[in-house]
Amino acid sequence: MIPYGRQHLDESDIEAVLETLKSDWLTQGPTVPKFENALADYCNANYGVAVNSATSALHIACLALDVGPGDCVWTSPNSFVASSNCALYCGADIDFVDIDLQTGNMCVDALKHKLENAQANDCLPKVVIPVHFAGQPCDMALIRVLSKQYGFYVIEDASHAVGAKYQNQLVGSCEYSDICVFSFHPVKIITTMEGGMALTNDPSLADKMRMLRSHGITNDPARMTEESHGPWYYEQVALGFNYRMTDVEAALGLSQLNKLEDFLEKRNILARHYDSLFRLYSNIFPLTQSNDNYSSYHLYVVKVDSLDSDKHAKLISELRERGIFAHVHYIPIHLQPHYKSLGFKNGDYPNAEHYYQQAVTLPLFPDLTLEEVEQVVDTLSNAVNSVNSK
Ligand SMILES: *Cc1c(COP(=O)(O)O)cnc(C)c1O
Repeated sequence: MIPYGRQHLDESDIEAVLETLKSDWLTQGPTVPKFENALADYCNANYGVAVNSATSALHIACLALDVGPGDCVWTSPNSFVASSNCALYCGADIDFVDIDLQTGNMCVDALKHKLENAQANDCLPKVVIPVHFAGQPCDMALIRVLSKQYGFYVIEDASHAVGAKYQNQLVGSCEYSDICVFSFHPVKIITTMEGGMALTNDPSLADKMRMLRSHGITNDPARMTEESHGPWYYEQVALGFNYRMTDVEAALGLSQLNKLEDFLEKRNILARHYDSLFRLYSNIFPLTQSNDNYSSYHLYVVKVDSLDSDKHAKLISELRERGIFAHVHYIPIHLQPHYKSLGFKNGDYPNAEHYYQQAVTLPLFPDLTLEEVEQVVDTLSNAVNSVNSK
């Protein structure tokens, strides 16, 4: 079975992990800040705050921006549930902005329109979370203009987009956002097993996130509100969590970072090969890529014409029967039972729903070969013909 995504680990990664296991530090120690600095430097951001997942990073990013009850956060319905759960963790309300059918990203026109309405009804969002779907950056310059105009913060959910570029700038530079979040889950671009990082250029946001990832505790006398009891003294000054990354994970992350550009190059070569093969088909369309972007190609998604939900399910099953572990990204978040229980319903975000019915995620990972890409395309085209003839 060819999976849709798979990590690439080599001997140097395994050595880095073993070396750390033999060191004095297993939990957060000296390797975590090394990894934070290396990735922040790479992305041209001032600060990196490593945590145990992107989900945790999104949560403390929202808290650092003071998201709480009475606030509203907007994100894309075409994403993993973590993109919106972070708002609910903070007791805030969540709402979605429909997507652009060509890219799968949040539609900036829809955002603009929704902001105009929200302003008229006095319910503007505190934070908007664009998701760089499949590794292609959203149009961040336009989103930043709207953020200044309407006074909301921007958290990039760049879980798919480590190493991606928007207008020749690395995602993570936070040029157009307040905080940018990465995931290091094994199917993502680089892995730490579980892990995530929040990048920012704002020292006070970085401080706040560092405190929140470790119980809301500080050892810094300048932040304490009471007299020290002695050299063991620490203070809990906010309600935080244990969201720390381990040194073992950070060592793997540092080692993976050495291979990032190689991973991206391979993913791009494979994606270009898929693109060139799909040019011969009139019923299978890759997502549109903007010339402003360099995608990290976390996912390779095609839209297959004229599928209903029944044919869509049959197509994915046929692909799996034929040895291709195709997937679908994403079930629109607002259609999840938990979100329906909050009042969302079918028809709320028609583009995300229409896109979902056509979307097929095909295998893409650094160790996939060009021959396997050809095999996937052949198999897909046969499976499409087969479900359409039934
Ligand atoms: C994977 C993913 C997350 C969550 O990442 P974890 O590190 O597994 O918590 C969040 N948002 C998006 C868009 C993702 O794909």
